[in-house]
Amino acid sequence: MARINDNYLKLQAGYLFPEISRRVTEFTTANPAAKVIRLGIGDVTKPLVPAVLAAFHEGVDDMAKGESFHGYGPEQGYAWLSQVIVDKAYKPLGVTLKTSEVFISDGSKCDSSNILDIFDLSNKVAIGDPVYPVYNDTNVMVGRSGEANEQGYYEGLVYMPCTEENNFAPAFPTEKVDVIYLCSPNNPTGTVTSREQLKAWVDYALENDAVILFDAAYEAFITEENVPHSIYEIEGAKRCAIEFRSFSKTAGFTGVRCGLTVVPEELMGTTAKGEKYSFNKLWNRRQGTKFNGVSYPVQKAAAAVYSDEGWAQVKDVIDYYMDNARIIREGLTAAGIQCFGGVNAPYIWLRTPEGMTSWDFFDKLLNECHVVGTPGSGFGPSGEGYFRLSAFGDKEKVTEAVEKIKQKWGK
Ligand SMILES: *Cc1c(COP(=O)(O)O)cnc(C)c1O
Repeated sequence: MARINDNYLKLQAGYLFPEISRRVTEFTTANPAAKVIRLGIGDVTKPLVPAVLAAFHEGVDDMAKGESFHGYGPEQGYAWLSQVIVDKAYKPLGVTLKTSEVFISDGSKCDSSNILDIFDLSNKVAIGDPVYPVYNDTNVMVGRSGEANEQGYYEGLVYMPCTEENNFAPAFPTEKVDVIYLCSPNNPTGTVTSREQLKAWVDYALENDAVILFDAAYEAFITEENVPHSIYEIEGAKRCAIEFRSFSKTAGFTGVRCGLTVVPEELMGTTAKGEKYSFNKLWNRRQGTKFNGVSYPVQKAAAAVYSDEGWAQVKDVIDYYMDNARIIREGLTAAGIQCFGGVNAPYIWLRTPEGMTSWDFFDKLLNECHVVGTPGSGFGPSGEGYFRLSAFGDKEKVTEAVEKIKQKWGK
């Protein structure tokens, strides 16, 4: 019989979202009249904007005619889309990229997992805590870790706690690491890495020959001036960082699927023999072999996100979500609940009142306010005592949820 990949057995059961569902179903069964407001999901709720839809339709119509039909496209994405990214997403930031450094994909969950293909298993990896679970679990799956301890930390991985005490800015690892995951604006904490902090990370990576995997899935939600949208705004970052971006949250592509990864040509690693080798070449080889590109209509739709009309429409949707974030933030603060994030990200990370655990607060919020959120402990041990509310939702419902929370906890 074929042997399985035993590393998968080390993973803790996908516990968080199934457990949330179970508790919500139990509540709604017992209270069929209650209107439950869901602020737990990390998924967009608004439809695609008109300019994007028009391009998407056009792409489909092209597929219907012999002269404009598209079969396999380049594995790296169409050059016209990469050019749009270079010109519209990066150039305005003062970042100069070549199209050969931009790889279009079906999303950054896949890319941030697949990227492990081009790193040796011996590399030491550092991740935040709390964290987007993909970074942790994919490293376990490829066999970079031992078992999890009772706290939930895997042997062999380095965790960087992000809590109120350090303003959700992780300290540099005390041991030598080779790969560092950073996510800004952050999921789940909704906080951002400042320009100074990001510069310190780039300097650290250059000094320690480490590679930063920078997840910028929420960069479009940044509202404050001077918060970096890309790690390449920092000098030297092209020599030490790979960046992931996604159309998912930016433009409502969670169900459409499109993202991109930037691997600068200057970024080098070392071979077993100690010689320098380009990560860009490796990723190009990896994608060419294991990936066959994103569908043509989807890439047409993605390019339309960066048209003048498309971007204006996309920005309106982002502003709508960010106004929800403001309503949640201000409402909770008025109720005396301490909260973080929600200024440059669609997530509010709150301190549970009265020292409740994350799950106790979940139950209380569900039972007494009929509001669903996400327990912080589900994102890592340092998330205990915190709770995530999402700004993706209908403004009326968000407002109603906040009013209920204020009635319950407000003085
Ligand atoms: C939603 C999200 C992504 C985007 O994933 P896609 O696969 O592009 O939909 C990436 N990183 C983080 C932290 C996210 O929350």
